[in-house]
Amino acid sequence: MEETLTAETKKCVNCGAPVGAGRKDRQYCSDLCKTEYNNNKQAAKRRKEKNTQEVSVPDFVSGINAILLNNRRILDECLGEGEKCTLKKRDVDGRGFRFKFFTSCDSTTTGVEYYFCYDLGYKIVEEERLVIVRRPREATY
Ligand SMILES: [Zn+2]
Repeated sequence: MEETLTAETKKCVNCGAPVGAGRKDRQYCSDLCKTEYNNNKQAAKRRKEKNTQEVSVPDFVSGINAILLNNRRILDECLGEGEKCTLKKRDVDGRGFRFKFFTSCDSTTTGVEYYFCYDLGYKIVEEERLVIVRRPREATY
């Protein structure tokens, strides 16, 4: 009598009603529920795909983000625990720093320009040297 027990306790995956007697692998109480369940599943899948597309960015944007993060990492490594450091431009170049890419540019009152990659920035000084600085994070989340 085990089979009858299984049939009685098994619920329709769509509406939760008992599926009644029948094959053990029966999942729906009716064809209508089967159709409805599959339609909802398809709609959810389409919604999920649409959301994924909305948050994804083109490859070139991801590429620029990677360069910016790499630039920040290089500045961070050069700076270490300090608040300021000076080093040769070619040393930074040698680590793969891309000068063309930065997140913001600030000028001081004396007209010196600092280029930032997020919270870390630099200015070019005489003899092809860089002064790297850290600033408080501007953006809040
Ligand atoms: Zn049902």
